[in-house]
This record gives sequence, structure tokens and C-alpha cells, in this order.
Amino acid sequence: MKVLEHPEFDAHERMVFCHDKASGLNAIIAIHSTVLGPAAGGCRMWSYANDDEALTDALRLSRGMSYKNALAEIRFGGGKAVILGDAAKDKTAELFRAFGRAIDAQSGDYITAEDVGVRVADMEEVATQTKFVSGLSQRGSSAGGDPSPWTARGVYVGIREAASHHLGASSLQGVRVAVQGLGGVGYHLCRHLHEAGALLTVADINRERCNVVGREFAAQVVSTDDIIGADVDVLAPCALGAVINERSLGTLKASVVAGAANNQLATPEDGEQLRSANILYVPDYVINAGGIVSAEGEYYGDVSEAQVAARVDAIGPRLRAIFLEASATDTGTHVIADALAQNRIREGRVTPMVDKLAS
Ligand code: NAD
Repeated sequence: MKVLEHPEFDAHERMVFCHDKASGLNAIIAIHSTVLGPAAGGCRMWSYANDDEALTDALRLSRGMSYKNALAEIRFGGGKAVILGDAAKDKTAELFRAFGRAIDAQSGDYITAEDVGVRVADMEEVATQTKFVSGLSQRGSSAGGDPSPWTARGVYVGIREAASHHLGASSLQGVRVAVQGLGGVGYHLCRHLHEAGALLTVADINRERCNVVGREFAAQVVSTDDIIGADVDVLAPCALGAVINERSLGTLKASVVAGAANNQLATPEDGEQLRSANILYVPDYVINAGGIVSAEGEYYGDVSEAQVAARVDAIGPRLRAIFLEASATDTGTHVIADALAQNRIREGRVTPMVDKLAS
């Protein structure tokens, strides 16, 4: 396993490999950048095929968090943790406590929260060992709690903006949306979309989740093999990354790709392929920032729920600015977003970008 020479290494500030014999914890903490604040990003629990796969995931996800947090204009740098294990079988309170001690040893340079496979109850265990954690149960009217509904709200706002920009749709009434993955984010996204009158096609490997969403939101359930190529206007990937790849590109019927999953493009070239096919790609780390915006408010303890809502809704105008810049320069939206994020980190800025782009 090569770390410093890994193609995704991208000058990470720190990599920590954690092992706790007693609880069986095996985890990687990746700290990409602390320029704009402590590195923050969720913890994913996944049964990786091998260590290399886990390392690659941690590196890609943590750089994505740097970019996400920079463009969300919050007081966080970027990092991520992965726990190697099956979330359905291997979770114990001891394991998350051991993980909490590993977080604490980073002295506040990394702040953790939930990601795929990790729930609020797990973070409550982490919080018994460290204060460098967010995404805990909500207390009173302050910001906090499960970040997934906030992420879903941001994705919904982003889909509305994309449908307006690319499809000329003044609302989502009658717009056909395929949602892949009906977990913490996908479920709430379907609720927003259904309430707005969108027509849903959905898939999940979990049959029960499909049944619930089918029943509650009048969604058509299709197989996980058919969801990417579904005949819809918008594809919302809300499961795992790299769903836009060499194989799937030829099957896409949607005109917009806009979902919560991190690292949706297998390679930057896939973003270029979307652009040349006139498919609007909504950069994942811009549209899915709602959860981290809530986590930031919770962590610093100085932001109300109403302020979090306003900041999450600001994802709409931020995306509009990126779409306009991409159209004006005939460049992929992913390239515009990356350049903006890299500039902000280079300059150490946490200032509004929408005003700058509009001027
Ligand atoms: P989750 O674990 O709650 O849900 C993921 C869902 O995807 C599960 O229901 C799972 O069964 C399903 N799934 C897995 N593989 C699938 C496949 N091949 N086809 C269809 N469904 C499949 O996770 P989540 O919190 O909802 O997050 C979803 C995505 O959004 C992840 O990529 C995550 O990194 C990203 N994200 C989440 C948040 C958040 O606030 N939770 C924030 C930013 C980004």
C-alpha cells in the first residue's frame, strides 16, 4: 500500500492508521487541509474489499471535503475517516469509543460526524471520548442532529436550480427524477420532491426502503441495475460514488445529474463526457453541503436552526453562479467548482463567492 505516492494523495497534511485490538477497530483518518479551519468530514463504515480500497476512498473523500467546506463558506478545512467493517454486523459501542479516542488524539485537527453506515447513536458513543465530534442528537433549538435531512434539503434546492437553468422548468411539478439510494438522504429528498410534484423513480438494494418510499411518495420502484439509465429528466445518485463512469455514460437518459453521493464522477474525464453530451452535472460537493453546514453550526454552537436553513438554501444561488460561469466559458461545471475551491483554499478565504461571481 503506497500512501505518499498514491495517485489521490494530493498533499494531504496527515494520514492516521488506527488499530485497537480490544474492540477490533481498523480505521483511517485522512486530514487533507486545515487552512480554513479544523479538517471536518464524516466517518464512513464500509466493508472494503481490501486496505487499498479503503485508503483510496479516504483520500478522495477527504479532498472532496476540503473543496466542499471551502465553497460552503464555513469555518472548516477538509478531512474524512473510514472504519473498515460491515455496518450491519461489526458495530459495537466499544468500537466507536475506540474510534473516539483516535479522534481525540488528533487534538482537534479533525472533527468527525456521520457518513454512510454511521448513525447518530454511533456518534454519541464517540462523544463519550472526545469533544471533536458533530452530528449528535439535537439539543433545544440550536443547530445540530442528524445531518441527512439538511443534506436532502440542499440537494432538493440544487435540483430546483438545475431544472430551472437547464430544463427551463419554473417548478418541479411533473419533472421526472430518478433517485438511487433511499437512505438517510435519499428518503428525505424523495419527500421534498414528491411534495413539489416531481414524478419519482427509485431504487435501493434494501427492498424495505423501496417499499416505504414507493408507498409514501407514489414512487415507481425499479431494479438497482435499471436506475442509472431510467427514462427521466434528472438522475439523483444518493448511494455511493463513481456511478458516472465509462460504462454508465452510454446508458444515461437524464439531462441533469444532481444528487447527494460524494465523488459521483469516476474520473474528471467523465465530467467532460457529460458536458459534451449536454448533460448538466451539478458538482456533488457543492449540492451536498447541507449536512456539513448544519454540523459546523452545531460544532461552533453559535448558529441557530433558522440560520442553518438560510445557509443551506444559499446552495441554490451558489450553483447558479457556477452554471453561468460554466456556460459563459464553455467549461464543465466540475472544473469551475474545483478551480473556485482551490483558489479559496490557496488564498485562505471564507468570504462569499456569489457576490464576486455576480460582479
Ligand atoms: P445511507 O447509508 O443512509 O444510505 C445509502 C443508501 O444507498 C442505503 O439505503 C443503501 O441500501 C443504498 N445503496 C447502496 N448501494 C446501492 C446501490 N448499488 N443501488 C441502490 N441503492 C444502494 O447514506 P446517506 O447518509 O443517505 O448518504 C448517501 C450518499 O450521500 C453517500 O454517498 C454519502 O457519502 C453522501 N452524503 C451524505 C451526507 C449526509 O448528510 N448523510 C452528506 C453529504 C454526502
